[in-house]
Amino acid sequence: MSAHEHAASPSDCADFLEQIVFLIDNELTAADADQVKQHLQSCNPCLETYDQQRIVKAVVARSCTEVAPGDLRSKIMVQIQELRTRS
Ligand SMILES: [Zn+2]
Repeated sequence: MSAHEHAASPSDCADFLEQIVFLIDNELTAADADQVKQHLQSCNPCLETYDQQRIVKAVVARSCTEVAPGDLRSKIMVQIQELRTRS
């Protein structure tokens, strides 16, 4: 019961998670990036994912070994699939 919240549905989040990957990689247009950032402000689970992915990416960039960027993407894709099947 949180009428004041702008309920983001799980399928919306699945779309945004995809955008979050691109946002982290700086592959979005400024307009798209703004939309994603607006969603992040109203959606804690997505904000957490965004923060986590940024940290993981920073660690990967520094260590340059353990996780390939491709693996990072496929992990998010799995997360997106899970959200989609749940909705
Ligand atoms: Zn969300």
